[in-house]
Amino acid sequence: MAVDIESLVRPHLADIETYDPVEPPESLAVKAGIPEDQVIKLNGNENPYGASPKVSKALAALPLHIYPDPFQRRIREALARYLELDSDQIIVGAGGDELIDLLFRLFISPGDAMIDSEPTFGMYGFYARVAGAEVRSVPRDQAFDIDVPGVVAVAGSSRAKLLFVASPNNPTGNVASEEQVKALLDTGLIVVVDEAYYEFSGNTMAGLVQEHENLVVLRTLSKWAGLAGVRAGYGIMSPKLVSHLIDIKSPYNVSTAAEAALLASLQDVDTLLENVSAIIDERERMFSMLDGIAGVKPRPSGGNFILCGFEPGRALAVFEGLAGRGIFVRNFRSPRLRDYFRISVGTREQTDRVVGAIAELV
Ligand code: PMP
Repeated sequence: MAVDIESLVRPHLADIETYDPVEPPESLAVKAGIPEDQVIKLNGNENPYGASPKVSKALAALPLHIYPDPFQRRIREALARYLELDSDQIIVGAGGDELIDLLFRLFISPGDAMIDSEPTFGMYGFYARVAGAEVRSVPRDQAFDIDVPGVVAVAGSSRAKLLFVASPNNPTGNVASEEQVKALLDTGLIVVVDEAYYEFSGNTMAGLVQEHENLVVLRTLSKWAGLAGVRAGYGIMSPKLVSHLIDIKSPYNVSTAAEAALLASLQDVDTLLENVSAIIDERERMFSMLDGIAGVKPRPSGGNFILCGFEPGRALAVFEGLAGRGIFVRNFRSPRLRDYFRISVGTREQTDRVVGAIAELV
């Protein structure tokens, strides 16, 4: 029997605007026509030093036939010790992404709205569209800082429930101040401060969680701990909110492998933070090198990436020139970022290659 699938798909999902994900090295290699080991992948804000060696050891010894703990007790307790918080203030997700999705599921009914500050991480808008939320993106100012009065005005005038602030912001690198976040918390909306890149900036709003029940701080092990492929992120928030999220999440959302990788990473924090420190040094070196090229304007960044501006209309040609040489950086659909692309901070050799190629291409 012929079934009309299209007529069954929920109308708001039939032609959804998708997220533009980064591709794995093997497909990039095919695109550039080069062997995979020659690809320079600087488009995913991944950690060039990889995971802790303790992670691979831990993964080798796992009982894979047993379901993981639906209440995540061991990992929440380990994170609580690491963060000096209580485990009932912490929930773990399959990456920060899953926690963003869960927040939409918890708070958004069709017709409700969410607010973000563009340009910013595209997954907020993406999950909002999946949830049927209205997306109210308030443009950042000239320096890509949050327009706090603009956001507060929208918060008061719409059916907004959730407000997203990435700090450091992907892709611009801006860090939100405590004063800005407090002004946003005063709207009474759920304010999600996404600190995926916290370890590269050192600025956190986690200290405000105790007094602000409407604050959610998100972190991930994808960046500082090099676990992007494993999928492990966590949220810090009031126990009440944690409990609601636990009630609606998939019971086994964090795999046994992700649990073990998270625990092993927390046992090797010093080594991992040495890598973070090398990435920060390399970010500053790459910034100065880019800043020295005529027609190239890097933006200061608190993350493991740099947003790089070009003369009007030039960015795409440079982006394509890099791709042709097997060097992959991240460009964006947003009209505001037409003259920019983002470069993840890699190894010293990778910086030399990408900056050298940019200097030739501009
Ligand atoms: N938030 C921001 C701002 C990000 O850039 C990313 C990673 N691209 C994430 C959250 C999610 O990371 P993950 O799902 O890998 O934890």
